[in-house]
Amino acid sequence: MLEADRERMPLAGRVALVTGAGRGIGREIALELARQGAAVAINYHGSGERARQVQEEIREAGGQAEVYQCSVAKEDQVEEMLKRVQADFGHLDILVNNAGITRDNLIMRMKEEDFDAVIDTNLKGTFHTIKHAVRPMLRQRSGKIINISSVSGILGNAGQANYAASKAGVIGLTKTMARELASRGITVNAVAPGFVETEMTEALSEKAREAARGMIPLGRFGRPEEIAYMVAFLASDRANYITGQVLSVDGGMAI
Ligand code: NDP
Repeated sequence: MLEADRERMPLAGRVALVTGAGRGIGREIALELARQGAAVAINYHGSGERARQVQEEIREAGGQAEVYQCSVAKEDQVEEMLKRVQADFGHLDILVNNAGITRDNLIMRMKEEDFDAVIDTNLKGTFHTIKHAVRPMLRQRSGKIINISSVSGILGNAGQANYAASKAGVIGLTKTMARELASRGITVNAVAPGFVETEMTEALSEKAREAARGMIPLGRFGRPEEIAYMVAFLASDRANYITGQVLSVDGGMAI
Protein backbone atom coordinates (compact mmCIF):
# COMPACT_ATOMS: atom_id res chain seq x y z
CA MET A 1 0.00 0.00 0.00
CA LEU A 2 1.31 3.47 -0.89
CA GLU A 3 2.01 5.80 2.04
CA ALA A 4 -0.68 8.20 0.79
CA ASP A 5 -3.29 5.38 0.77
CA ARG A 6 -2.30 4.32 4.27
CA GLU A 7 -2.82 7.92 5.40
CA ARG A 8 -6.32 7.97 3.92
CA MET A 9 -7.32 4.44 4.92
CA PRO A 10 -5.47 3.66 8.16
CA LEU A 11 -7.93 0.87 8.99
CA ALA A 12 -7.83 -0.93 5.62
CA GLY A 13 -7.98 -4.71 6.09
CA ARG A 14 -9.26 -4.45 9.68
CA VAL A 15 -12.56 -5.87 10.93
CA ALA A 16 -14.47 -3.88 13.57
CA LEU A 17 -17.48 -4.79 15.69
CA VAL A 18 -19.47 -1.80 16.99
CA THR A 19 -22.27 -2.43 19.48
CA GLY A 20 -25.42 -0.29 19.32
CA ALA A 21 -24.42 0.97 15.87
CA GLY A 22 -27.86 1.53 14.36
CA ARG A 23 -28.16 5.07 15.69
CA GLY A 24 -26.55 7.85 17.72
CA ILE A 25 -22.83 7.76 18.50
CA GLY A 26 -22.51 4.09 17.49
CA ARG A 27 -23.80 4.86 14.00
CA GLU A 28 -21.17 7.58 13.52
CA ILE A 29 -18.44 5.28 14.85
CA ALA A 30 -19.43 2.56 12.37
CA LEU A 31 -19.46 5.05 9.48
CA GLU A 32 -16.12 6.62 10.43
CA LEU A 33 -14.35 3.26 10.85
CA ALA A 34 -15.72 2.24 7.43
CA ARG A 35 -14.53 5.54 5.88
CA GLN A 36 -11.07 4.75 7.21
CA GLY A 37 -11.16 1.35 5.51
CA ALA A 38 -12.47 -1.12 8.13
CA ALA A 39 -15.07 -3.78 7.40
CA VAL A 40 -17.78 -3.26 10.01
CA ALA A 41 -19.99 -5.64 11.98
CA ILE A 42 -22.98 -3.54 13.02
CA ASN A 43 -24.71 -4.71 16.20
CA TYR A 44 -28.19 -3.51 17.09
CA HIS A 45 -30.81 -4.44 19.65
CA GLY A 46 -34.15 -2.87 18.65
CA SER A 47 -33.26 -0.60 15.70
CA GLY A 48 -33.04 -3.16 12.89
CA GLU A 49 -34.22 -0.86 10.14
CA ARG A 50 -31.74 1.85 11.08
CA ALA A 51 -28.89 -0.65 11.39
CA ARG A 52 -29.61 -1.84 7.85
CA GLN A 53 -29.51 1.80 6.69
CA VAL A 54 -26.01 2.14 8.16
CA GLN A 55 -25.03 -1.09 6.38
CA GLU A 56 -26.47 0.26 3.12
CA GLU A 57 -24.60 3.55 3.49
CA ILE A 58 -21.30 1.74 4.01
CA ARG A 59 -21.89 -0.61 1.08
CA GLU A 60 -22.88 2.24 -1.24
CA ALA A 61 -19.55 3.92 -0.44
CA GLY A 62 -17.77 0.70 -1.47
CA GLY A 63 -17.24 -0.67 2.06
CA GLN A 64 -18.10 -3.97 3.70
CA ALA A 65 -20.71 -4.29 6.48
CA GLU A 66 -23.01 -6.90 8.05
CA VAL A 67 -25.68 -6.49 10.73
CA TYR A 68 -26.16 -8.59 13.87
CA GLN A 69 -29.11 -8.43 16.24
CA CYS A 70 -28.38 -9.18 19.89
CA SER A 71 -28.73 -7.73 23.37
CA VAL A 72 -25.27 -7.16 24.81
CA ALA A 73 -26.83 -7.77 28.23
CA LYS A 74 -27.27 -11.47 27.35
CA GLU A 75 -24.05 -13.46 27.35
CA ASP A 76 -25.40 -16.35 25.24
CA GLN A 77 -26.53 -13.92 22.53
CA VAL A 78 -23.16 -12.13 22.56
CA GLU A 79 -21.29 -15.44 22.28
CA GLU A 80 -23.44 -16.42 19.30
CA MET A 81 -22.92 -13.02 17.63
CA LEU A 82 -19.14 -13.23 17.99
CA LYS A 83 -19.17 -16.71 16.41
CA ARG A 84 -21.12 -15.33 13.45
CA VAL A 85 -18.79 -12.33 13.07
CA GLN A 86 -15.82 -14.73 13.02
CA ALA A 87 -17.53 -16.94 10.44
CA ASP A 88 -18.48 -13.98 8.22
CA PHE A 89 -15.26 -11.96 8.37
CA GLY A 90 -12.61 -14.52 9.39
CA HIS A 91 -11.06 -12.32 12.08
CA LEU A 92 -11.75 -9.44 14.46
CA ASP A 93 -9.35 -6.57 15.06
CA ILE A 94 -11.39 -3.79 16.67
CA LEU A 95 -14.15 -4.00 19.29
CA VAL A 96 -16.10 -0.86 20.18
CA ASN A 97 -18.41 -1.18 23.18
CA ASN A 98 -20.85 1.63 22.57
CA ALA A 99 -24.27 0.18 23.48
CA GLY A 100 -25.70 1.97 26.50
CA ILE A 101 -28.91 3.04 28.21
CA THR A 102 -30.04 5.45 30.92
CA ARG A 103 -32.81 4.99 33.53
CA ASP A 104 -32.33 8.23 35.50
CA ASN A 105 -33.88 8.94 38.89
CA LEU A 106 -32.92 10.19 42.32
CA ILE A 107 -31.67 7.38 44.55
CA MET A 108 -34.79 7.32 46.77
CA ARG A 109 -36.97 6.71 43.72
CA MET A 110 -34.63 4.46 41.78
CA LYS A 111 -36.07 0.98 41.35
CA GLU A 112 -33.78 -2.01 41.60
CA GLU A 113 -34.84 -3.13 38.12
CA ASP A 114 -33.68 0.22 36.71
CA PHE A 115 -30.36 -0.08 38.50
CA ASP A 116 -29.93 -3.64 37.19
CA ALA A 117 -30.97 -2.81 33.61
CA VAL A 118 -28.34 -0.08 33.31
CA ILE A 119 -25.58 -2.19 34.89
CA ASP A 120 -26.53 -5.22 32.75
CA THR A 121 -26.34 -3.28 29.47
CA ASN A 122 -23.55 -0.77 30.07
CA LEU A 123 -21.16 -2.71 32.29
CA LYS A 124 -21.96 -6.40 31.92
CA GLY A 125 -22.56 -5.87 28.20
CA THR A 126 -18.98 -4.62 27.92
CA PHE A 127 -17.71 -7.58 29.95
CA HIS A 128 -19.63 -10.04 27.72
CA THR A 129 -18.30 -8.72 24.42
CA ILE A 130 -14.72 -8.46 25.64
CA LYS A 131 -14.85 -11.99 27.04
CA HIS A 132 -15.99 -13.44 23.73
CA ALA A 133 -13.96 -11.18 21.42
CA VAL A 134 -10.53 -11.61 22.99
CA ARG A 135 -10.03 -15.22 21.90
CA PRO A 136 -9.37 -14.37 18.23
CA MET A 137 -7.40 -11.27 19.26
CA LEU A 138 -5.19 -13.36 21.57
CA ARG A 139 -4.56 -15.81 18.74
CA GLN A 140 -3.54 -13.08 16.32
CA ARG A 141 -1.61 -11.23 19.07
CA SER A 142 -3.17 -7.89 18.22
CA GLY A 143 -6.40 -6.03 18.81
CA LYS A 144 -7.95 -2.74 19.82
CA ILE A 145 -10.74 -2.54 22.36
CA ILE A 146 -12.45 0.79 22.89
CA ASN A 147 -15.12 1.18 25.56
CA ILE A 148 -17.49 4.14 25.64
CA SER A 149 -17.66 5.43 29.20
CA SER A 150 -19.00 8.87 30.14
CA VAL A 151 -18.12 12.08 31.95
CA SER A 152 -20.73 10.85 34.49
CA GLY A 153 -18.43 7.94 35.32
CA ILE A 154 -15.63 10.39 36.12
CA LEU A 155 -17.45 13.23 37.89
CA GLY A 156 -20.69 11.54 39.00
CA ASN A 157 -24.05 13.12 38.16
CA ALA A 158 -27.08 13.68 40.40
CA GLY A 159 -29.95 11.47 39.23
CA GLN A 160 -27.64 8.95 37.55
CA ALA A 161 -26.46 6.63 40.35
CA ASN A 162 -26.97 3.57 38.13
CA TYR A 163 -25.49 5.11 34.98
CA ALA A 164 -22.50 6.75 36.70
CA ALA A 165 -21.74 3.48 38.55
CA SER A 166 -21.90 1.55 35.27
CA LYS A 167 -19.62 4.01 33.46
CA ALA A 168 -17.14 4.17 36.36
CA GLY A 169 -17.22 0.36 36.24
CA VAL A 170 -16.36 0.51 32.54
CA ILE A 171 -13.26 2.55 33.45
CA GLY A 172 -12.13 -0.06 36.02
CA LEU A 173 -12.78 -2.83 33.51
CA THR A 174 -10.81 -0.94 30.84
CA LYS A 175 -7.76 -0.46 33.06
CA THR A 176 -7.80 -4.09 34.18
CA MET A 177 -8.22 -5.45 30.65
CA ALA A 178 -5.38 -3.19 29.50
CA ARG A 179 -3.08 -4.77 32.10
CA GLU A 180 -4.29 -8.32 31.38
CA LEU A 181 -3.98 -8.11 27.61
CA ALA A 182 -0.99 -5.82 27.02
CA SER A 183 1.55 -8.64 26.72
CA ARG A 184 -0.51 -10.03 23.81
CA GLY A 185 -0.45 -6.82 21.80
CA ILE A 186 -4.04 -5.85 22.63
CA THR A 187 -4.74 -2.28 23.74
CA VAL A 188 -7.82 -1.34 25.75
CA ASN A 189 -8.92 2.26 26.19
CA ALA A 190 -12.05 4.16 27.18
CA VAL A 191 -13.56 7.26 25.63
CA ALA A 192 -15.56 9.45 28.00
CA PRO A 193 -17.94 11.73 26.10
CA GLY A 194 -19.62 14.69 27.72
CA PHE A 195 -23.07 15.78 26.49
CA VAL A 196 -23.51 14.70 22.86
CA GLU A 197 -26.43 15.51 20.53
CA THR A 198 -28.26 12.16 20.27
CA GLU A 199 -31.65 10.73 21.25
CA MET A 200 -30.17 10.08 24.71
CA THR A 201 -29.82 13.83 25.37
CA GLU A 202 -32.86 14.89 23.29
CA ALA A 203 -34.90 13.64 26.23
CA LEU A 204 -33.55 16.49 28.40
CA SER A 205 -35.75 19.55 29.02
CA GLU A 206 -34.58 22.91 27.62
CA LYS A 207 -33.86 23.99 31.21
CA ALA A 208 -31.64 20.95 31.77
CA ARG A 209 -29.88 21.54 28.44
CA GLU A 210 -29.19 25.14 29.40
CA ALA A 211 -27.79 24.04 32.77
CA ALA A 212 -25.65 21.44 31.00
CA ARG A 213 -24.26 23.99 28.55
CA GLY A 214 -23.26 26.10 31.54
CA MET A 215 -20.97 23.27 32.70
CA ILE A 216 -19.20 22.93 29.34
CA PRO A 217 -16.21 25.27 28.87
CA LEU A 218 -16.58 25.08 25.07
CA GLY A 219 -20.22 26.11 25.54
CA ARG A 220 -21.96 23.53 23.36
CA PHE A 221 -22.92 19.85 23.17
CA GLY A 222 -20.65 17.57 21.16
CA ARG A 223 -21.56 15.99 17.84
CA PRO A 224 -21.54 12.19 17.49
CA GLU A 225 -18.80 12.34 14.84
CA GLU A 226 -16.54 14.14 17.33
CA ILE A 227 -16.60 10.98 19.46
CA ALA A 228 -16.14 8.80 16.38
CA TYR A 229 -12.89 10.57 15.39
CA MET A 230 -11.32 9.72 18.75
CA VAL A 231 -12.49 6.09 18.53
CA ALA A 232 -11.05 5.77 15.01
CA PHE A 233 -7.72 7.17 16.21
CA LEU A 234 -7.57 4.70 19.12
CA ALA A 235 -8.40 1.89 16.68
CA SER A 236 -5.49 2.80 14.41
CA ASP A 237 -1.80 1.88 14.59
CA ARG A 238 -1.05 5.46 15.50
CA ALA A 239 -2.39 4.65 18.97
CA ASN A 240 -0.28 1.50 19.42
CA TYR A 241 1.48 2.90 22.50
CA ILE A 242 -1.71 4.02 24.28
CA THR A 243 -3.44 1.60 26.63
CA GLY A 244 -5.48 1.74 29.83
CA GLN A 245 -6.38 5.37 29.26
CA VAL A 246 -9.62 7.32 29.57
CA LEU A 247 -9.81 9.93 26.82
CA SER A 248 -12.33 12.68 27.56
CA VAL A 249 -14.14 14.19 24.59
CA ASP A 250 -16.37 16.56 26.50
CA GLY A 251 -15.75 20.19 25.57
CA GLY A 252 -13.65 20.53 28.72
CA MET A 253 -16.25 19.38 31.28
CA ALA A 254 -13.86 17.16 33.23
CA ILE A 255 -10.88 19.54 33.34
P1 NDP B 1 -28.65 6.45 22.07
O1 NDP B 1 -29.69 6.35 23.12
O2 NDP B 1 -28.82 7.39 20.94
O3 NDP B 1 -28.34 4.98 21.47
C1 NDP B 1 -28.14 3.90 22.32
C2 NDP B 1 -27.59 2.76 21.52
O4 NDP B 1 -27.36 1.65 22.40
C3 NDP B 1 -28.57 2.28 20.45
O5 NDP B 1 -27.86 1.99 19.27
C4 NDP B 1 -29.15 1.01 21.06
O6 NDP B 1 -29.49 0.03 20.10
C5 NDP B 1 -27.96 0.51 21.85
N1 NDP B 1 -28.40 -0.43 22.88
C6 NDP B 1 -29.13 -0.18 23.99
N2 NDP B 1 -29.34 -1.31 24.67
C7 NDP B 1 -28.72 -2.32 23.98
C8 NDP B 1 -28.56 -3.70 24.17
N3 NDP B 1 -29.08 -4.35 25.24
N4 NDP B 1 -27.85 -4.43 23.26
C9 NDP B 1 -27.31 -3.80 22.17
N5 NDP B 1 -27.43 -2.49 21.93
C10 NDP B 1 -28.13 -1.74 22.83
O7 NDP B 1 -27.31 6.74 22.85
P2 NDP B 1 -25.98 7.51 22.40
O8 NDP B 1 -25.67 7.23 20.99
O9 NDP B 1 -26.08 8.89 22.89
O10 NDP B 1 -24.94 6.76 23.35
C11 NDP B 1 -23.98 5.82 22.89
C12 NDP B 1 -23.02 5.54 24.03
O11 NDP B 1 -22.40 6.75 24.43
C13 NDP B 1 -23.70 4.98 25.27
O12 NDP B 1 -22.86 4.03 25.88
C14 NDP B 1 -23.84 6.19 26.16
O13 NDP B 1 -23.92 5.86 27.50
C15 NDP B 1 -22.56 6.94 25.82
N6 NDP B 1 -22.60 8.37 26.13
C16 NDP B 1 -23.51 9.19 25.54
C17 NDP B 1 -23.54 10.54 25.86
C18 NDP B 1 -24.51 11.50 25.25
O14 NDP B 1 -24.54 12.66 25.71
N7 NDP B 1 -25.27 11.15 24.25
C19 NDP B 1 -22.60 11.07 26.85
C20 NDP B 1 -21.68 10.13 27.40
C21 NDP B 1 -21.69 8.81 27.05
P3 NDP B 1 -31.01 -0.17 19.52
O15 NDP B 1 -31.53 1.17 19.15
O16 NDP B 1 -30.79 -1.09 18.37
O17 NDP B 1 -31.81 -0.82 20.63
